[in-house]
Amino acid sequence: MRQSDWKAVFDAAGRAALEHLDSLAERPVMPAADHATIRAALDRPPTAAGIDPARVVGDLAVDLEPYVAAQAGGRYFGFVVGGLHPASFGAELLVTAWDQNAPMFAATPGVAVAEELAAQWLVELLRLPRQSSVGFVTGGQMASFTCLAAARHEVLRAVGWNVEADGLTGAPPVTVVVKAGAHATVLRALRFLGIGERAVVTVDCDDQDRVRPDALARALHAIDGPTIAAVECGNVNTGAFDDFAAVADLADEHRAAGNPTWVHVDGAVMLLAAASPAMAGSVVGLDRLDSWSTDGHKLLNVAYDCGIAICRNAAAHRAAMSVQAAYLEQGTGARDPLDWGPEFSRRARGVPVYATLRSLGRDGVAELVERTSRLARRFADALRDSGRAVIVNEVVPNQVLVRWLARDGEHGHLADEVMAGVRAEGSAFFSGTTYRGERLMRISVSDWATDEHDIDRAVEALLRHARLAAG
Ligand SMILES: *Cc1c(COP(=O)(O)O)cnc(C)c1O
Repeated sequence: MRQSDWKAVFDAAGRAALEHLDSLAERPVMPAADHATIRAALDRPPTAAGIDPARVVGDLAVDLEPYVAAQAGGRYFGFVVGGLHPASFGAELLVTAWDQNAPMFAATPGVAVAEELAAQWLVELLRLPRQSSVGFVTGGQMASFTCLAAARHEVLRAVGWNVEADGLTGAPPVTVVVKAGAHATVLRALRFLGIGERAVVTVDCDDQDRVRPDALARALHAIDGPTIAAVECGNVNTGAFDDFAAVADLADEHRAAGNPTWVHVDGAVMLLAAASPAMAGSVVGLDRLDSWSTDGHKLLNVAYDCGIAICRNAAAHRAAMSVQAAYLEQGTGARDPLDWGPEFSRRARGVPVYATLRSLGRDGVAELVERTSRLARRFADALRDSGRAVIVNEVVPNQVLVRWLARDGEHGHLADEVMAGVRAEGSAFFSGTTYRGERLMRISVSDWATDEHDIDRAVEALLRHARLAAG
C-alpha cells in the first residue's frame, strides 16, 4: 500500500465517523430493519482481486452505518450501555493508527507506562487501597473472571495448594457465596474457573436486591475453609449498593475464625460512585473488600471494549494471570500488562482510559456519576407523576425499574408494548427485565451525552405509547 493511501482511508472513515456522530441527536436510536434486509445490504463477498481500502471503508458508511444503533447518543437507555467520550474517541483513533500490541513494556514502552498511570489514577480516584493492582480487560465479564481467578489463587494458597500448577482436581474445596440473582457474568466466570455455576451457596437479598447481612452471616457460619464471596456495587436491576461495611465485618470475622476469605465486588454498573463525594454514604466499607471489577465502557464512557479488574492483593492477582516465556522480553522492572489480565496480545486498551480520565478530571468523573443519577431521578419522577407507572426501585444511582400500569391489572404485557412502540419509532431505546417474576422496563442513564432534553423527549414518547397500549 502506498503511503498516500492512508489519507484516502482516513478521509473516508473520518467523514463517515463525523456524519454518524453529528446524526446522533436526531437519528432513530434503533434502526428499523430486519435481519434479511441488513444481510442483503452487507453480503458482498471478497472478490478474487480485492478492493481499494478507501472504497471498502466508504462502502461501510453506506451499507452498514444505517443499521448501527445510536449507542453513543443521549437516548439509548437499554441494558447498561455507556456512551463515547470525545477524549476516548480521539485516543482510540491514535491507538488504532499506532497499532500497538500491548502485552509488555519491551514491546511498547509508551503504552505500558500510560496504562500504569491510568491504573494508578483509577485506584486513587476510587479511593481503593494504594497498593492495589489493576488489569485492563475486555469488560466486566473478564474483569470478574480475573478478580475471581486471583481469589481462587489466594484462598487455596492459604491452605497450601497451588491451583495454577495443580488445578482443582484433588484441591481442598472452595466455597463460593453469591447473592440471589447474581449477575450472569459472575456465574459464568465461576464456570470458566472450574468451580461451576451451580456449586455455590446462594444468599437471600432484600427488596432492592441488596444482600441481606443476616443471611450472609448465616451462610458464612456454615462454611469451613477457603471461601470466596461476591457482592455488588450497583445492581443491574435496581442499581442498589450492598452494605459493604457489614460485608467487610462478616468477612473479617470469617477470616478470624481461620477461613481464608476473599470478597469480590462486581462494580460494572457503579464502582465509579466511589469517586463521587455525594455518593460516599453508599460506598462506606467498599475499600475494605478484596477485589473490584468495573467497566470502562459503561459509566466512564470509554469506547468499547474496556473492563477493569482491581485487586488489593497484587501478588495474588499477578500469580493468577502472569505468564513467562523464553520468547518474550520480561523482567525489565517496568509494569508488563500481560501480568494483570488473561490476554496475551491485545489492543492498547488502557490508553483511552488515560485520556478520558485526564479530560473529565477528578471533578468531572464525580459530576458524571451525580448527573446521570440526577437524570435517572428526573425520569422516575416524571413517569411516577404521570400516574401511568410505578417506580419499583429506590432510585439511588442511575438505574430505574418501571412497572407500566394496565387497566386490567395485568401489567406485565404493557412493558413490552411500550418499549416496542418507542423502539419502532426510534425516539429512544429501553430494554426489559424479569424482576421477582414480573416483567418490567429498565432504564439506565449511563451516557455523558444525555441531558434533560433527552429525558423529557423520552418521557413524552413513553407516555404517548403507554396511553396507546393501555387504551
Ligand atoms: C454489564 C455488567 C456486567 C458485565 O460487563 P460486560 O462489560 O458486559 O462484560 C457484569 N455485572 C453487571 C452488574 C453488569 O451490569
